[in-house]
Amino acid sequence: MLDYDLHCHSTISDGTLTPTELIERAYGRGVKVLALTDHDDTDGLAEARIAAAAYGMIFINGVEISVSWRKHTLHIVGLKIDPDSLPLQQGLLSVRSGRGERAQKMADELAKVGIGGVLQGALKFADNPNMIGRTHFARYLVEAGYCKDVKSVFNRYLATGKPGYVPHKWANLDDAIAWIRGSGGVAVLAHPGRYMVGKYSMGKQSMHELLGEFVTLGGQALEVVTGSHTVEQYAEFSRYADEFKLMSSCGSDFHGPKESYRDLGRLPDLPLICRPIWDVLF
Ligand code: AMP
Ligand code: MN
Ligand code: MN
Ligand code: MN
Repeated sequence: MLDYDLHCHSTISDGTLTPTELIERAYGRGVKVLALTDHDDTDGLAEARIAAAAYGMIFINGVEISVSWRKHTLHIVGLKIDPDSLPLQQGLLSVRSGRGERAQKMADELAKVGIGGVLQGALKFADNPNMIGRTHFARYLVEAGYCKDVKSVFNRYLATGKPGYVPHKWANLDDAIAWIRGSGGVAVLAHPGRYMVGKYSMGKQSMHELLGEFVTLGGQALEVVTGSHTVEQYAEFSRYADEFKLMSSCGSDFHGPKESYRDLGRLPDLPLICRPIWDVLF
C-alpha cells in the first residue's frame, strides 16, 4: 500500500471537506504525502499546507485543469505547481470564467424536462460559486429527491448526451500543459481509463494519438492508479506509460466520504514497471 495520494478535492472545487478536514482525514488514514488538486482553482493550497505541516505530512501543491481535446473533456493534473505564477492564475481564471454561464444553460436544459429551480439549488452546495459544476447540481438533485445518489444523477441527467449536459469549451491541451510547466510543475494526464468508457468514449487509436500529443507538448506522467480504474486498467495504463516513456502517478480522486470511488490513501502499489512520479516531486 502506498502512502502517497496525489489527487483529491476540497470545498474549493467539488469536494465536501474543507482543506483542513481533508488533511485530517488523510492523516488518519495513513497518507504521508498528499497533493490537493482542486478543479481549476488553487485557493485551497495555503490552508491545506498549514494543516499538513501540523501533522508532519509532506504537502504538494496541485491543481486539476479542465481541457477540451477534440470532442472530449480531459483533466490534466499539475503537481508541484507554483500557485503564484501569473500565467497559471490567468489561465485558471479564464477556465473558471465560463462556469457561471454553463450552469445557467444546464439549468435551462433541466427546466425543459420539468426540473425547475436547479441553479439556486446547486449554488447552495457550492462553497465557491465561481467553481459551480456538475457535482453541485448532482448533490442538489439528490436532495430534491430526483435520484438516490450522485452517481445516478450523472447517469440519468448530467453525463455526456443526457438532458442536463451542455457541451463546453475548456482550456486547450497545449495551454494547460504550458501553464503547469511554466510554473515549475509536472503535467499528469488524469484517470485515462475514464476517457475510454461509455457511449462517447475514445478508442485505442485516439488514446495513442492523445498520448503522442501529450508527450510532444511536455506532458510527463500518466495517472495509472486512480480511484476509478479497475485492476486491469492499472496494468493497461502502466503499459501505455512504458510505451510513451511517461512517469506514473497515483491518487484516489477523493471528493467526500459518501460519494467517492475510493477513500483517501489505501491505494494499491504502482505496477512494478512504472517509474513513480515522486522521484521528481521533491
Ligand atoms: P464539471 O467540471 O462541472 O464538468 O464536473 C466534473 C466532475 O463531475 C468530475 O470531476 C467528477 O467529480 C464528477 N463526475 C463526472 N462524471 C461523474 C460520474 N459519472 N459519476 C460521478 N461523478 C462524476
Ligand atoms: Mn470533481
Ligand atoms: Mn477528473
Ligand atoms: Mn479529480
